Amino acid sequence: PRLAAPRDILGARRNSAGLNLSNEHDLKTIKTAFARIKPVNGNGLPVRNPADHEDVVGYVTYAEKGEVEAAFAAAAKGGPAWAALGAAKRGEILRRAGDIMEERLPDLLGLIIREAGKSTHNAIAEVREAIDFLRYYADEARDDAAPLGTVVCISPWNFPLAIFTGQVSAALAAGNAVVCKPAEETPLIATEGVRILHEAGVPADVLRLVIGDGPVGAALVGHKDTHGVVFTGSVEVAQLIQKQLADKLLPDGRPVPLIAETGGQNAMIVDSSALTEQVVADVLTSAFDSAGQRCSALRILCLQEDVADHTLTMVKGGLDELALANPQFLATDIGPVITAEARDRINGHIEAMKAKGHKVTQLDLPAEAGKGTFVAPTIIELNSVSELAGEVFGPVLHVVRFKRSAMDKLIGEINALGYGLTFGLHTRIDETIREVTERIEVGNVYINRNIIGAVVGVQPFGGHGLSGTGPKAGGPLYMRRMVLDAPVLKGG
Ligand code: GLU
Repeated sequence: PRLAAPRDILGARRNSAGLNLSNEHDLKTIKTAFARIKPVNGNGLPVRNPADHEDVVGYVTYAEKGEVEAAFAAAAKGGPAWAALGAAKRGEILRRAGDIMEERLPDLLGLIIREAGKSTHNAIAEVREAIDFLRYYADEARDDAAPLGTVVCISPWNFPLAIFTGQVSAALAAGNAVVCKPAEETPLIATEGVRILHEAGVPADVLRLVIGDGPVGAALVGHKDTHGVVFTGSVEVAQLIQKQLADKLLPDGRPVPLIAETGGQNAMIVDSSALTEQVVADVLTSAFDSAGQRCSALRILCLQEDVADHTLTMVKGGLDELALANPQFLATDIGPVITAEARDRINGHIEAMKAKGHKVTQLDLPAEAGKGTFVAPTIIELNSVSELAGEVFGPVLHVVRFKRSAMDKLIGEINALGYGLTFGLHTRIDETIREVTERIEVGNVYINRNIIGAVVGVQPFGGHGLSGTGPKAGGPLYMRRMVLDAPVLKGG
């Protein structure tokens, strides 16, 4: 049996424990849940498993104008009572939703794995993070400021439950009504998330799900009753949203707030004092976990010349050991990328780099890769950081070599990319840690470890520049942008 809500024992919030794949009981729970999965019948657009396109996970229809209007009307109706309920009561409801997610974890896993192509290990982390967000924002909710009103949440496919739940639960905890639109690639797991929140006690009017693609998102952002927007996704879409919001004001004359978390062009610097075995493990995790489809993922590995050959040989050896397969197998390390379009874009980048004469090392694709959208994990050697143009959102790692005397210049080049999300440093020299962390301009710096998987409430996550607006998700400032915390100074 699972432990009771940890708050009851210690009176303090604890993050979700998840499941342990090396524990016989947990493993059996997962296998039993997977065996319950039945083929679906339905109408509308099929949602397909990216690892096997013949596997239809469910069907959806995109919202028409009437549904969008109905969602905003409901939010306007339900919002005031939700705000009046108070932070403590709202927090209780969100914590209950977290407990329900914890109970249903095995069933949620099956859906995440099939709909988003995540490995079992990633899917467990995904549900845990969603639960952590619910508990964290429940605890952070305050009664010291009025909510914005109706907040639109637009979430990505790469964390279809975690980021979705994070955005929605923060907005709800702050006392807002929410109209949410998950990415069109992963609407089913979000639907399940909404069902759980309703079951836990969030009134149906207060949280409305709208399914659709970009134009539906634009209709939500542009709606006259939108009082705040939370978005995670590409830089391009964030810019479109910002343009749309530029003409809008809140009823009291303030601009409509936007929280956007976008991409990264994340680097890791490894100097000659680093422990190579640890570097290899951390590089493989940072670059290839989730098939590189994290905005936190490592894109540019910078190796000090003296250790570059040796380290790179070991990284390639390690890459060779990773299992690229359908995530329905527990042993899978790297699953598919999300769509055929994503696969073609990533492969296009790899081909272009080959054509430019860069040295490219790739894993072989397994025979069944053609059933879904797989990309062969790839390492591309560059001469300098600036040879990399945009973000490549897939299992592609770029490597550059640097001289110790040119480390300062290297950091300048990384900063000049214009993003600022995650960064890693492997060194055993304290002075280097001080120097580099002072100069590097990113949201999350990781020393002597991997650079993914920020933990809610422990490592607030988010960047600046092209990487987003802040405030960081899972941190104490996030919800402050979802309330009207200061009176407008008239005529001042
Ligand atoms: N929070 C995730 C991490 O630390 C990344 C989120 C994203 O990809 O948007 O790995």
